[in-house]
Amino acid sequence: ARANIGVVGLAVMGSNLARNLASREGNVVAVYNRSRAKTDELVTDHPEAGFVPAFSYDEFAASLVRPRTAVIMVKAGGPTDAVIDALVEVFEPGDIIVDGGNALFSDTIRREKAVRDTGINFVGMGVSGGEEGALLGPSLMPGGSDESWITLGPILRSIAAVAEGEPCVTHIGHDGAGHFVKMVHNGIEYADMQLIAEAYDLIRRGTGKSPAEIADVFAEWNRGELESYLIEITAEVLRQVDAETQKPLVDVILDQAGAKGTGAWTVQTALSLGVPVSGIAEATFARSLSSHPEQRSVSRDLPGPADALDVADADAFIEEVRLALYASKIVAYSQGFDEIRAGAAEYGWDIDLGAVSKIWRGGCIIRAQFLNRIADAYAATPDLPVLLTAPYFVEALGRGQDAWRRIVQTAAGAGIPAPAFSSSLAYYDGLRAERLPAALIQGQRDFFGAHTYKRIDKDGTFHTLWSGDRTEIEAEDTH
Ligand code: NDP
Repeated sequence: ARANIGVVGLAVMGSNLARNLASREGNVVAVYNRSRAKTDELVTDHPEAGFVPAFSYDEFAASLVRPRTAVIMVKAGGPTDAVIDALVEVFEPGDIIVDGGNALFSDTIRREKAVRDTGINFVGMGVSGGEEGALLGPSLMPGGSDESWITLGPILRSIAAVAEGEPCVTHIGHDGAGHFVKMVHNGIEYADMQLIAEAYDLIRRGTGKSPAEIADVFAEWNRGELESYLIEITAEVLRQVDAETQKPLVDVILDQAGAKGTGAWTVQTALSLGVPVSGIAEATFARSLSSHPEQRSVSRDLPGPADALDVADADAFIEEVRLALYASKIVAYSQGFDEIRAGAAEYGWDIDLGAVSKIWRGGCIIRAQFLNRIADAYAATPDLPVLLTAPYFVEALGRGQDAWRRIVQTAAGAGIPAPAFSSSLAYYDGLRAERLPAALIQGQRDFFGAHTYKRIDKDGTFHTLWSGDRTEIEAEDTH
């Protein structure tokens, strides 16, 4: 045995992660894949890596020094369970199995419990950054036990992306905490992408600028407070010209957005936790709406506003879109962190929200300058109940809100869908409201279901005898 770390699953993510591991001082990497061809190819193509190939789980286990540490990078779901079962057979108590696939956190909680009974450590780890991140430095979100972090910490720190001198990895919390945080990361990514898409659409329809000209706008934005990977690649995509038609590539790509399901998981989980992640939900639904051509084709002739958008001052309009985008982005991140806070409370994880924002500064898809502001906010007030109420964000929202409102009005008036912009604003105004019409909802619930209500002026639970003489009685609290 001479390898200190192993990788199971050598498709694009696993092979890149294995090469990343092998490139770091002190690591000897064992590799195994279900079908032999991928292992042979990796070992042949990368002699510099000094891989230790294994062609059975027994060989794989025998090639690892103890505590054996293996990262699984296979298709999420059944394949992950199959590999875990096989590794549990050949590993011993104290060894560490890491699942780096995109598992649902509740599966990770289940797997951790089952594996723990054997004395083997199981770590569910979120990996972000795609293929390139896996190779050059991803953002890593490991869960699992404190014991496994002792062995795993130094290895993961050596391969993670580095942002401002700090590796983009931290022990998120026990069992499913890492995969939970990765899930929310992806949800925020959906919201961020949708907001950028809405900004592009408004600018294009409002100013008539070409995709290449709008690419310049995004490139410019990328030098300011919106600086981020997603803004940067948006400029690249908009600038791309299709070789065949010579049209902007964005105009020949079919406008039906795909999804692998992590956005939906984020929303489903938020629904069960009772956390309003409306920006992420609208972004997920916007992809769903786009992907129903049969519904869109029969809806094309629905009436819309008489006048198309006609912007008088293009530069001023673009600046207002930028402010609206920034304000909506603050809302999306605030909602995402709210979901992590609620998840931690529900599942008993001790998650350092500031540390989460820091490990997203490099390697991952939502990497951005902006995350430093989130880290600052949690450093100043670790138990901040609403992220967007931190002073820096209050200032930015104050600066942007008039523009934000005008952009939402403009979009609605011109019949341009801007679901993430407008739902973010509605959330913001909902939080701000002194009184919400929730009081009326409580009245309705009491009317038809005797669900009772509380009063603002005295303690207790009350019910109005709606079908009787409509006097109020004190009632048992029936939720
Ligand atoms: P895939 O998700 O395409 O999975 C292919 C790998 O899974 C192959 O190595 C395959 O082995 C193996 N596999 C499938 N079924 C089984 C099984 N029953 N038993 C053993 N091995 C099996 O690979 P990716 O590299 O794209 O992704 C790996 C994981 O990383 C996934 O969970 C993915 O969600 C996650 N991920 C992916 C990111 C990305 O950008 N692609 C980013 C972050 C995470 P074989 O060669 O024998 O078929």
